[in-house]
Amino acid sequence: MTTQKRDSGDGIFSILRKIDVKKAAKLFSKIDIVEAFNSLSKMNNAELYQLMKLLKGGDKNKPLPPINGDFYELASLLTPQEREVQLKVRKFMSEVIDPIANDFWLRDEFPFHVIPEMAKLNIAGLTYEGYGCPHHSFVLEGILAMEMARVDVSISTFFGVHSGLAMGSIYLCGSEEQKQKWLPRMQKMEIIGAFGLTEPEVGSAVAGGLTVTAKREGDKWILNGQKKWIGNATFSDITIIWARDVDDNQVKGFIVEKGTPGFNPEKITGKMALRITQNALITLSNCEVSEANRLQNANSFKDTAKVLRMTRAGVAWQAVGCARGAYEHALAYTHERHQFGKSISSFQLVQDLLVEMLSNLTAAETMVFRLSQLQDADLLTDEQCSLAKVCWSLRSTDIVSIAMELLGGNSLIIDYNNAIFVGDAESIYYYDGNKAINSIIVSRAMLGKSGIA
Ligand SMILES: Cc1cc2nc3c(=O)[nH]c(=O)nc-3n(C[C@H](O)[C@H](O)[C@H](O)COP(=O)(O)OP(=O)(O)OC[C@H]3O[C@@H](n4cnc5c(N)ncnc54)[C@H](O)[C@@H]3O)c2cc1C
Repeated sequence: MTTQKRDSGDGIFSILRKIDVKKAAKLFSKIDIVEAFNSLSKMNNAELYQLMKLLKGGDKNKPLPPINGDFYELASLLTPQEREVQLKVRKFMSEVIDPIANDFWLRDEFPFHVIPEMAKLNIAGLTYEGYGCPHHSFVLEGILAMEMARVDVSISTFFGVHSGLAMGSIYLCGSEEQKQKWLPRMQKMEIIGAFGLTEPEVGSAVAGGLTVTAKREGDKWILNGQKKWIGNATFSDITIIWARDVDDNQVKGFIVEKGTPGFNPEKITGKMALRITQNALITLSNCEVSEANRLQNANSFKDTAKVLRMTRAGVAWQAVGCARGAYEHALAYTHERHQFGKSISSFQLVQDLLVEMLSNLTAAETMVFRLSQLQDADLLTDEQCSLAKVCWSLRSTDIVSIAMELLGGNSLIIDYNNAIFVGDAESIYYYDGNKAINSIIVSRAMLGKSGIA
């Protein structure tokens, strides 16, 4: 008992010895120290803890948690080799693309000088076997589409059109000779591909309604008509043109080489989104293609559909990447932006919006991850793919619009890294089948009947 008394007494003296008398005098002149002491002694432990936290500067001095849109650590499910590829692509996007993306977007131009750098990543034809392709998983392919779109959706579209749609058409529908001829150089990105399916008057209805015609004349085919929206086609070395054979009425695929007489791509200007991606309106006027350049295993639209099926999950991943980029930029902004004397991330209403974004984003990531796992197991169906496209092309626009709300007026300025995501999220909604068309595919599986009257 005695020892305890002496101890607490020593404790008080040692505290008093630490007090700076001059500072104390200044403080006593400002506050009623007796009243302050009495009030403090009435506080419970929780209140005292909060007060001490406040006096020590609250959470101000604590380092901020890293900004990470992969809240469920899906990257940890990759193999070490896949993770290495993911980080290599992330580095390329942040060091090479990020510093130039806004400028090229504003100028509506493509940064051709980045293609050799991108080629060094060795990711074109990522999932294909042979022909110099790395034969990785679809999960990794999806993750890479997300990594690219997280920084710039246009670059991810450029890559998806080349590696997925154009190389994929040759990989799935070409003869062995055609694959040997084109794929190794496309893998090295020495030649770039485009994929021409949509037409000015035929968008959603491409399966049954292509109007571009192909007429065989001896060893040649004569193509006539127009294609619209064709990504990369203003500069591509080869463009896959899907056309209806006038003799058997079936859709066939043709490899049209740059400079072929009668092949006239014209840049579509004035886009409000995906401005770095160069889309073309192609006019085919008696364009002659040799039989050697007809995709030998493309005999009907069912073969075209195989290519679309293989690449559709990648578009859902792009939507997720776009949403992730918007979320991560918005989160960073809420720390930097101060209102009412505090960072706006301190306000609970702002925190609620951030949590809403993160929950949607995490649901998106887990859904598309599973989609790619199904694709790796060769179990993926059209309707599973379409459900993800329906869901995430729509929800990513929600996430991006919350980001816009958080940035306030600054969201309109390109340099604040939100405006581009707004337009790009909208464009992902449209291409590769918009919500209505993908809903029809899901409904058919769900209800057993088609919604097209
Ligand atoms: C930025 C961008 C890049 C693109 N890149 C390429 C490319 O590289 N290659 C290529 O071939 N194509 C490309 N496309 C074309 C794209 O695939 C088409 O835009 C898409 O298929 C939709 O066609 P559409 O825009 O003509 O719309 P439409 O088919 O005209 O549809 C207009 C509206 O009608 C609705 N609708 C249509 N049919 C039905 C129905 N049965 N039931 C209910 N609603 C219906 C649609 O949902 C939509 O709301 C690209 C498009 C964009 C915007």
